[in-house]
Amino acid sequence: MFKVILVFTVFFLSFTLANANANNWLIINQDPQIMSKINEISTTVLNKGRIHVVTLNVPYAKLTEKIKKSLRVIKLEEINQYQLQLSQSGTQVETPIPWIKELTKKITADSIKNFVLKIVDQGNRSTGSLDSARAAGNELTQKMIKSYFESWGYSSNLHCYKNRKYAKECNVYAIKKAANNSKQTIIVQGHLDSVNFSKAGADDNASGTAGVLELAKQLKDIKTNINILFVANNGEEDGLVGSEAYVELLTQNGEIGNIILTINMDMIAYNSNNNFEIETNKEYEELANWIGKQAILYGELNPIITMPAWGSDHVPYLDAKVPSYLSIEEWDTHTPCYHRSCDKPDGLNYEYAAKIVRTNFSVIIQKADLEIENR
Ligand SMILES: [Zn+2]
Repeated sequence: MFKVILVFTVFFLSFTLANANANNWLIINQDPQIMSKINEISTTVLNKGRIHVVTLNVPYAKLTEKIKKSLRVIKLEEINQYQLQLSQSGTQVETPIPWIKELTKKITADSIKNFVLKIVDQGNRSTGSLDSARAAGNELTQKMIKSYFESWGYSSNLHCYKNRKYAKECNVYAIKKAANNSKQTIIVQGHLDSVNFSKAGADDNASGTAGVLELAKQLKDIKTNINILFVANNGEEDGLVGSEAYVELLTQNGEIGNIILTINMDMIAYNSNNNFEIETNKEYEELANWIGKQAILYGELNPIITMPAWGSDHVPYLDAKVPSYLSIEEWDTHTPCYHRSCDKPDGLNYEYAAKIVRTNFSVIIQKADLEIENR
């Protein structure tokens, strides 16, 4: 394998601080309603991609609980963002490995679109729908995902962490056992819930859930020497409730130390410029750069590495010291229908979603020690 030098085009982040003693706050909930409230009481010091840093014009203590939960103090050294490019090392240029490329090409835009349509068709997938109807879209989606996993031969179960009025709030998981009984595990996840609109949440996050299903489908007949745990998280829009509960379960049963990587997909289907973001914390920058290289080689995408991580289901894993990253559409050009009723399957870019899922497939192929003949 050729040695590759990664060249970083650093977006220089400049900060103009009105008050050098004031805290910088990272906005960790970019819901449009929250954003407009924060805009009224703050001054922006940096706004690039998902990194929006402000200083407060009112005392923190006077903020509502909801706003307080949407902000966290950030140190400037935690922040970095850059576009990643492969570079030539002498006359050698890194090229894709043919058998890996061939496997990843099995992922099609049509298949991902089909999953998105089925998920959106379940109705209202907000966790609140569990309290308002027996045929809540959220509950129907849990059942549908479980039956998809089972149809591909996986053992699948619900991990229910909250009893609701009419139903239970559960994550859905399926396990692919390692052929060699290894304990090491890779988690592939995306959240199945949405904000409170019926037959919406197509990009956020039927698309990422479709990515989880697509990877489970692709891996069903391939032997791996690492366990793969597929998880459709619930309660993400209520503050990462499902993934936090799942990490707690893995911590209590001692499995958390066996997780070698968590891949999170959240909003992967709206784009027109081929840029996409890999988000993690500074301690996993080297991993993110390696993922970015796979995105170029196997996803044919332009990766942007962004740090720190916030606001999706990779965060509880990072907090538990598990190497983890988020795959997400470029935030500077994200869907205009984010958290709105117009987040419908029409107008999404399914080939772009397929490229992100191919990237994550290439990561699994290389990290899960596949048993494949004719490499
Ligand atoms: Zn989301």
